[in-house]
Amino acid sequence: MNILVINCGSSSLKYQVIDSTSEKVLAKGLCERIGIDGRMNYTPAGGEKEVTEAPMPTHTEAVKMVLEALVNEKTGVLKSLDEIDAVGHRIVHGGEAFKQSVVITDEVLKSVEECNDLAPLHNPANIIGINACKELMPNVPMVGVFDTAFHANMPAKAYMYAVPYKYYEDYKVRRYGFHGTSHSYVSQRVADILGKPYDNLKTIVCHLGNGASVSAVKDGVSVDTSMGLSPLEGLIMGTRSGDIDPSAIEFIAKKEGMDISQALNMLNKESGMLGLSGISSDFRDILAAIENGDEKAKIALEAFCYRVAKYVGAYAAAMNGVDAIAFTAGIGENNNYVRSKVCEYFGYLGVKIDEDVNNNTGDEAIISTPDSGVKVLVVATNEELAIARETEALVK
Ligand code: ADP
Repeated sequence: MNILVINCGSSSLKYQVIDSTSEKVLAKGLCERIGIDGRMNYTPAGGEKEVTEAPMPTHTEAVKMVLEALVNEKTGVLKSLDEIDAVGHRIVHGGEAFKQSVVITDEVLKSVEECNDLAPLHNPANIIGINACKELMPNVPMVGVFDTAFHANMPAKAYMYAVPYKYYEDYKVRRYGFHGTSHSYVSQRVADILGKPYDNLKTIVCHLGNGASVSAVKDGVSVDTSMGLSPLEGLIMGTRSGDIDPSAIEFIAKKEGMDISQALNMLNKESGMLGLSGISSDFRDILAAIENGDEKAKIALEAFCYRVAKYVGAYAAAMNGVDAIAFTAGIGENNNYVRSKVCEYFGYLGVKIDEDVNNNTGDEAIISTPDSGVKVLVVATNEELAIARETEALVK
């Protein structure tokens, strides 16, 4: 089956076509600056990346361009659009309604729309992407894969906020968690790599990218995770603060004359590594600054690693032990320094890192020594493949 995987942001659209039998990527790319001007990049398997600048007033034009590129006579990877068997859409927030992936129907779309309130920056864009595909490929089945779904079976003690209960009853205010597709994929890979049964393993997954979260996966179920109602809670991220005393927000807002949405904008876009270092949200820039002796960048990096370590420690307690700790996403996969620094906190768990392996990992590696008390791994996440698998399973 050929599956088109779509991941829509407010002004962007990432796509891949995956042959679900071989699990090979036939083509992939990104449309950017939708609604501004428009730029698409397209890379067929084994071919050169092409960049096309063309107006994309809405996501519909972006999807149209992607489809044209896929069937282009010279560089296309499909003979006709009939060769697309299904479309898998990443949807950020499924609220309490969606505990697993679903075939998209009008009714499902309505329920997804009802979650817009919970993810006003993300869900509307996902829905626009779905509608654009519906318009251009009305007969192709589509599946929604939710970032929140993997965490949907957390126990109440993990997802309830200690605010008046009526806010949960009236507005569904609770922890939902995100990056679920990645946490699910990586925790399953860990079991495969270690040759252990997934349903009898305690794994802590550290998804460290621009957005970052940790999850505790016990016997194949996510039992806790660091992101909350929104992706703002938890770890220090590229530009997001993660955990903070709400009183500090009121204090800053009063001093600076900010309203709530300005304060939230500061916490989402101007905080995290960018805010602490005053340099960049990108870890490569942070590391370069540290090499040049920048003190704030050093504090930012130490605070980042410390926060990750605190969550891992908490989740080892939550699961009454941990068999494996996995690092994934841009930083987790590529930054050996962060992995090493975080693991320094786990001496009490008997964690020992083989620094030679840690400094030379490929997509996947066990970076702990054979006698380490807990296995520590690097696993490259692959959310697109996970979405393609879910899509195939539901439309077959
Ligand atoms: P997201 O998908 O949340 O936007 P990513 O998973 O791409 O984020 O992670 C982005 C982060 O990963 C950046 O801080 C970047 O510095 C880091 N990163 C990505 N690639 C590399 C690399 N090759 N070496 C070091 N750091 C990297």
